[in-house]
Amino acid sequence: MSPALLEELAAASQNLESAEPPEIIGWAARRFGDKLTMATAFGPEGCAIIHWLAAVAPKTFVFNLETGYQFKETLELRDRLAKRYGIEVALEAPDTTVEEYERLHGGPLYRTDSNRCCGDRKIAVIKRVLTRFDAWMSGIRRDQSPDRAAAPIVGWDHKFDVAKISPLANWTKAKVWDLIVRENIPYNPLHDQGYVSIGCWPCTRAITMGEDERAGRWSGTAKTECGLHSKE
Ligand code: SF4
Repeated sequence: MSPALLEELAAASQNLESAEPPEIIGWAARRFGDKLTMATAFGPEGCAIIHWLAAVAPKTFVFNLETGYQFKETLELRDRLAKRYGIEVALEAPDTTVEEYERLHGGPLYRTDSNRCCGDRKIAVIKRVLTRFDAWMSGIRRDQSPDRAAAPIVGWDHKFDVAKISPLANWTKAKVWDLIVRENIPYNPLHDQGYVSIGCWPCTRAITMGEDERAGRWSGTAKTECGLHSKE
């Protein structure tokens, strides 16, 4: 990455700070063309971006990190989105199946070493995918967690060596759900059962009233992020 590119991205980020997500997505699609990709775990924000992408840049390569531990409702949502928008989200998986992985480690690592498990089944996979692209887009919002509070609209992702676009950085959970209801966008039915932030089933639980929206992820441990959106 050159200083000129960093400057360009910082200027774009500033210009887009008050832009609505479809405008940001449109800018990213024009700037990076087929070198732009989007990653989604099929949360409401990802579903919203797919909704806009279908109108603005439907040929964008969209992928999901298929760890082998996702809820069946999450994988069914992939099919519902494909039917509605014609966007087939690619399932990018690690080299080993869950059975092979657990055999190799004498049991499920999510119980004993969740950082290693996320590293092997998510981070290594996204690194592999992103080598084919110049920019990636995700649905993170600044108000989701302290880790995400400083996310720029457009910036350089030093971890994966590509530009990163966060079209929903300035949005709130209420605005995302308002859009989903208004536009009848498919969403994960687990959200209606108290699951707010949904990842792999062993590391996700429903939350109760008043809990932080990510409290159901790696509950009972100090871990709050899988590492996709953190600097280290
Ligand atoms: S979220 Fe849990 S099961 Fe999924 S990769 Fe991370 S540790 Fe493994």
